[in-house]
Amino acid sequence: MTNYTLTYGNGKYEAVIGLEVHAQMLTESKIFCGCSTTFGSEPNTQTCPVCEGLPGVLPVLNKKAVEFSIKTGLAMNCRISRQSRFARKNYFYPDLPKAYQISQYELPICEGGHIDITVNGEHRTIGITRIHMEEDAGKSIHESGSNYSLVDLNRTGTPLMEIVSEPDLRSPEEASAYMKKMRTILRYLGVCDGNMEQGSLRCDANVSVRPVGAKEFGTRTELKNINSFKFVEKAIEYEIKRQIKVIEDGGKIIQETRLWDSTAGVTNSMRSKEEAHDYRYFPDPDLVPIEVSLEWIDEIKSGLPELPDKKINRFMNEYSLPEQDAEMLASESALSDWFENVVQAGGSPKAAANWIMGDMTKLLNEDGTAIEDCRLKPSMLADMLRLIDKGTISGKIAKTVFEEMYKTGKDAEAIVKEKGLVQISDSSAIEQAVADAINGNPAEVERLKAGEEKLLGFLVGQIMKSTKGKANPGMVNEILKQKLGL
Ligand code: ADP
Ligand code: MG
Ligand code: ZN
Repeated sequence: MTNYTLTYGNGKYEAVIGLEVHAQMLTESKIFCGCSTTFGSEPNTQTCPVCEGLPGVLPVLNKKAVEFSIKTGLAMNCRISRQSRFARKNYFYPDLPKAYQISQYELPICEGGHIDITVNGEHRTIGITRIHMEEDAGKSIHESGSNYSLVDLNRTGTPLMEIVSEPDLRSPEEASAYMKKMRTILRYLGVCDGNMEQGSLRCDANVSVRPVGAKEFGTRTELKNINSFKFVEKAIEYEIKRQIKVIEDGGKIIQETRLWDSTAGVTNSMRSKEEAHDYRYFPDPDLVPIEVSLEWIDEIKSGLPELPDKKINRFMNEYSLPEQDAEMLASESALSDWFENVVQAGGSPKAAANWIMGDMTKLLNEDGTAIEDCRLKPSMLADMLRLIDKGTISGKIAKTVFEEMYKTGKDAEAIVKEKGLVQISDSSAIEQAVADAINGNPAEVERLKAGEEKLLGFLVGQIMKSTKGKANPGMVNEILKQKLGL
């Protein structure tokens, strides 16, 4: 048991958070018909009588959706149900043509797992209550200025996983770390693209507060419409503060659903528990119970990739990387593959990690390129690191070379030659530059000799400037000290 708690309201309260995450599965076709799941097509071009909910049709389960759910359950340490079943969740909404959603209720495909997270160096285990499969609804389109709504059924029947956590999270930061870890795992598995902005990964947050030390949970509210990691934190933080204020003012929290308004940065009441739907769940008579064989589970298990936590540990042990570096590199499998290719091509792990987390990430973010698509290849970074080690280029020049490699796809040696970037390691040339700096800055030289040590850096800077950053910094320091008799 960890004694970790984050307190609010002068240390009097503790927050309790549980997340319900919806992940769109990356199957090619829908969960109960053969229609395509491709995003962004003309409205209502990817529909058929099944996903349009016409009477008399029969759903047929997509095996891939079951496989993806089992895969996810295994990666999140769940028990896989040998027997599971679909249920009808009944409610009326224009984008739900059957007036029920096919979901799972009392027999979900996965139960009882966990995900491990790290926040500020603290490790915590967050329980997963269940993972169930269900179909997505369509999309209502409200055009501004019109007095009607349109419905696009392309998304109807897209397979979803709903992943429900235990109320184990204790702060907004933990909630967002949990979401990020979940996204990483889903992307490693290739079962969901994890795009929150486009809605393929969505999250409802259940939030309550209680006095520190209390055993019972407080009354919770459920927050909807959270569509980025930033908003996961912001919405929960706002809600914790709001609830504490209500309690401190002598009020009571009512169980309700609240909508996060990202523009105003507040949550607003949407419906109370009294207005909540009674979904009248019952087993779907059109779908036979799902039976999963042990052989199939074993087969899926043996096909799992190395998962993020294992990779983080391996990177720390095998490459002696700090935990934060290992975590950052393992956050995307494409990133960690790229890193390992640099190491395989002879680059030192720590240097490779620094270049990837620094200059590389910055450049990729600037032009929105994925690391696997960029012109700069891992072996090119390894070559550049060799040039630094040999003293051909300085670390400073390397920044220019790196950016040039990234932009042009040319290798380091060609760029160094073409731009005349070879480091000056010729002592007579450096001596000349040192002499110029000493003669050009007599006042600074005096003060340095009188003990103002930081002026050594100033003089080194002048020399680097006059040599356009090309002088070997080690030699500059040595020769300068020697000339000044320091
Ligand atoms: P429902 O089906 O009505 O949404 P569940 O019991 O399935 O209710 O819980 C949904 C989510 O709410 C779960 O993630 C759970 O961990 C979380 N939860 C339950 N009670 C609380 C509470 N008091 N405070 C915060 N989260 C809670
Ligand atoms: Mg709920
Ligand atoms: Zn269809």
